[in-house]
Amino acid sequence: MSAREWIGKDFYRELGVSSDASQDEIKKAYRKLARENHPDANPGNTEAETKFKAVSEAYGVLSDPEKRKEYDDARRLFGSGGPGGFGFPGGGGTGAGGFDLGDIFGQAGASGGFGGLGDMLGNLFGRRGGGGTTAARGTRGADVETDVRIDFTEAVKGATLPLRLSSPATCGTCGGNGARPGTRPRTCPTCAGAGLVSRSQGAFAFSEPCPDCRGRGRIIDDPCPECAGEGISNRTRTLTVRIPPGVDDNQRIRLAGQGEPGRGGASAGDLYVRVHVNPDPVFGRSGNDLTITVPVEFSELALGTTLTVPTLDSKVSVKVPAGTSSGRVLRVRGKGIAKRDGTQGDLLVTLQVVVPAKVDGKAKAALEKYAEAVAKHDPRPEITALLRDRGA
Ligand SMILES: [Zn+2]
Ligand SMILES: [Zn+2]
Repeated sequence: MSAREWIGKDFYRELGVSSDASQDEIKKAYRKLARENHPDANPGNTEAETKFKAVSEAYGVLSDPEKRKEYDDARRLFGSGGPGGFGFPGGGGTGAGGFDLGDIFGQAGASGGFGGLGDMLGNLFGRRGGGGTTAARGTRGADVETDVRIDFTEAVKGATLPLRLSSPATCGTCGGNGARPGTRPRTCPTCAGAGLVSRSQGAFAFSEPCPDCRGRGRIIDDPCPECAGEGISNRTRTLTVRIPPGVDDNQRIRLAGQGEPGRGGASAGDLYVRVHVNPDPVFGRSGNDLTITVPVEFSELALGTTLTVPTLDSKVSVKVPAGTSSGRVLRVRGKGIAKRDGTQGDLLVTLQVVVPAKVDGKAKAALEKYAEAVAKHDPRPEITALLRDRGA
């Protein structure tokens, strides 16, 4: 039977005893009523039958000291189901019908041995990523963010990295259930494991976190010494993170369920890994395209050549036609970044003439001859024309 039903019933009244009756008094009262209303003694009398059942039910709870205490606690918290409907602790002496959470939970704290309202609601609703008011049990774990730094090549090709995290994690001693090893949490009898109890006031019905298990649905009699029953302790974990190929600098990767563990059986948060990519001395990136700048001699561009250009893990021959300008970009198809979604970028080769800081000897003589040979050729006709218009 659930606490919800308990709260609506007055077992003491059913047995005609006071709420501080001794076990003996309860037993005597039950025996008398059971005898009087027994179906064998009252054939066909439905009223007696109903009374007999009610008395048996009341005795079932009140005769068991543990159940009786739970019943008493529940009634103290949520009011007894006496003739006037739901009352308040102390016969309505406090608050005259007003619903005073602080008062109710304050009293519960004193008698039931659990924390105050703030603590309870804090646990239930206050934490980041909480499941909201519909969460019947515990709290979803918080999301955690961490950083990794990887090399350019790892970012492009994907990588599998070990990641050391020091964060709250499922307690290794109790496996997260919060109970001392060898013991188990038991289902909360007050809410039958639902974590919520119903309460009515006038025409309204409320669902409230169960006061006995603080909304967790379970009760731990013997808490785990490592985590004090929380099921969570600070641990250093080593996780394996798979970085997908083609990840960008500053991109976040989500690892579902690897964040802070949930409390009270709720699901864990997520882990976000922010990836920082070390720049590469040779390669760059433009979307899915891999970029590289290749220094060349003027003569190579003028006469044409075949260059050997590195790719990420190999090399490729690139034909440079005679008369290629410096700064021109040659595209090598399919040698860029392959993403997991099947897209494949290109390798973009930028050709850039390098001018030696100093030329001498044979090279200098050859260059002077070359200059002489091209003296009549104007490499910048537009500019020459512009200058001529200005009367230069
Ligand atoms: Zn533990
Ligand atoms: Zn409960």
